Amino acid sequence: MTNTKRIAVIAGDGIGKEVTPTTVKALEAACAAGGKQLAFTHFDWGADRFLRDGTTLPHDAPEMLRRDFDAILFGALGDPRVPSNQHAADILLGLRFKLDLYVNARPCVLFDKRLTPLRDRNEKDVNFIVFRENTEGAYAGIGGNFKRDTPDEVAVQEDVNTRKGVERIIRYAFEYARRKKLKRLCMSDKSNAMTYGHGLWQRVWTEVRKEYAEIESRHLYFDTLTMEMVRDPSQFDVIVTCNLFGDIASDLGAQLSGGLGLAPSGNIHQGQVSLFEPVHGSAPNIAGKNVANPFGSALAGAMMLEYLGWEREAQLIDAAVHGAIREGKTTPDLGGKFGTKELGDWLAERIAKHGLAGAGA
Ligand code: ATP
Repeated sequence: MTNTKRIAVIAGDGIGKEVTPTTVKALEAACAAGGKQLAFTHFDWGADRFLRDGTTLPHDAPEMLRRDFDAILFGALGDPRVPSNQHAADILLGLRFKLDLYVNARPCVLFDKRLTPLRDRNEKDVNFIVFRENTEGAYAGIGGNFKRDTPDEVAVQEDVNTRKGVERIIRYAFEYARRKKLKRLCMSDKSNAMTYGHGLWQRVWTEVRKEYAEIESRHLYFDTLTMEMVRDPSQFDVIVTCNLFGDIASDLGAQLSGGLGLAPSGNIHQGQVSLFEPVHGSAPNIAGKNVANPFGSALAGAMMLEYLGWEREAQLIDAAVHGAIREGKTTPDLGGKFGTKELGDWLAERIAKHGLAGAGA
């Protein structure tokens, strides 16, 4: 395995431009500690570029990224000067769909019990991962309006579920559980109401689970799942669900584990260039103030290293974030006094100081 990986960096807009550079520093420190290297190439796709020359996602970008890069580090998109959000949809959804990044992985890990809104719950209780189908379902963009803007208007939004799409995300979740030796997997749908689309999820899950007899797998309707996640999150290791419900479950999970500022995600197609980003958006209300929490982005960077097969270096970043939270070194959203840049510098220094001896600390 080569010791250099090529990373495309798309910082984007708003706080994406503040947190992404801190993650680049943390990644450099972690890789240096492990004798590895990342070669970063920065792309200026975002609102500024769109307003300057109309570029959103250049037409050859997906092919170029697939050919020339091992992974993509992404910040956030969204800018009040582009109310249609056209550039964001073109770039992020364009990459998800054109690179066929069918897995949206969102770990929900509570690093410190002070950060959960749940009473009497601790770090052991909130430690699961949500796998959201990322390329179809209600987000396929199929539908239309009839008699628009009249009292008789009809709006149709199709929910697209393909056997191939459902099977590959369910299989990915089972494979992840097997690899990580996780015992419990929950598949969630609304097959009682959405009998055709989610009936397919039921049939595929029933078939696939037979191949993973060592994993205790169960099914919950999505409304029950959300109640159970709040009542007793300790019952979950792996959750797999469709695009729309995955969006909701992972935001709920993010709140259970300390809020948006801490939540990372990966948009993955195993064996192909994949994209890693914080769950939060561009947060225009706090952009440019040096108060954005850089941990969600840093943890997304760690997920990227793990995806690239550099697990020990990934653990260095996880351990540094963990240490910062334990020591109260946080941005104001978590009650601390640190600025984004200063906290990013602290993370990189801590990683460099502890080196690989600190991995898993
Ligand atoms: P978008 O539409 O791009 O998702 P948004 O501002 O509507 O952007 P988010 O950026 O996801 O939504 O975040 C919602 C709010 O949560 C923000 O306005 C901000 O107050 C807070 N927030 C999000 N991310 C962070 C962060 N990294 N650090 C601190 N606060 C954050």
